[in-house]
Amino acid sequence: MKIAVFGKTGQVATELQRRVPEGVTLEVIGRDRADFSEPKTVAAVVASIDVDAIINAVAYTAVDKAEEEPDVATMINATSVGLMAEEAARRALPLVHLSTDYVFNGAGDAPHRVDDPTRPLGAYGRSKLYSENAVRSAVGSHAIIRTSWVFSAHGSNFVKTMLRLGGERESLTVVADQIGGPTPAAAIADVCYAVAKAISEDAVGGTYHFTGAPDVSWADFAREIFRQANIDCKVIDIPTSDYPTPAQRPSNSRLDCSLLEKTFGIERPDWKAGLADVLKELGA
Ligand code: NDP
Repeated sequence: MKIAVFGKTGQVATELQRRVPEGVTLEVIGRDRADFSEPKTVAAVVASIDVDAIINAVAYTAVDKAEEEPDVATMINATSVGLMAEEAARRALPLVHLSTDYVFNGAGDAPHRVDDPTRPLGAYGRSKLYSENAVRSAVGSHAIIRTSWVFSAHGSNFVKTMLRLGGERESLTVVADQIGGPTPAAAIADVCYAVAKAISEDAVGGTYHFTGAPDVSWADFAREIFRQANIDCKVIDIPTSDYPTPAQRPSNSRLDCSLLEKTFGIERPDWKAGLADVLKELGA
């Protein structure tokens, strides 16, 4: 099976290139060939590639900056993805696309189910919701996998920020009233491959949730990072209101992953084990 991976250098894109399953070959398509701020370049590549399925790991992920440039976020996350989905549908190429907990407003404390109403709080979440709608309305074989709090040894993420700050300070204030599932990029890559194969063989597409377990606060996530990395830095809980950001975050990012488990037999991974792997790779 030959799979086109859109995205070369991002967290998930990097893990997709490192975890290619047996029997799969990749065509990795970077910004040089498909620039998602120029949607036509994306459509042209999808129209011409010789593959059996597509995994899209490209996204505008600068959540706060998106508030300043919502049009750029929408162009990259939705307009380009819409053209990709239409062209993939026309060519009957199954498409796996990633989305986010930010499509929800984070009300309540129950895990969001796949079919719960969406209501993004900011420009990034809106652009990702538009991307989902575009993929669905192209009516090709597809799977949309919503995930959250992605970490890996590459790119910028919470784990790397905590390692840096924890090494510089004796204590750190961290938001304790946002709860979600930290998710190793490596586990997301494995799920993308499993789902790409499944939707190529069977009509089991749709929208799914996949996050690491258990759900925690950012503060408890930071504590576990420091514990595993042997960093002596005290974590002080603060409310979100003490850490204002341009984009509002959902306070409840818990995602109910049972549909993915029921459909594909894939369980939520233990993020603490994934964290240990990432810290080992970083030499922390
Ligand atoms: P990253 O920010 O690490 O990577 C984004 C990728 O998109 C990079 O390869 C980047 O390439 C590429 N990209 C950005 N703009 C363009 C463009 N104009 N043209 C071509 N390529 C572009 O993202 P993640 O791997 O963390 O995220 C993967 C998916 O998971 C995304 O769909 C994201 O929305 C979703 N997600 C991520 C979360 C997180 O915490 N990070 C949480 C929930 C969902 P380049 O290096 O060239 O800029």
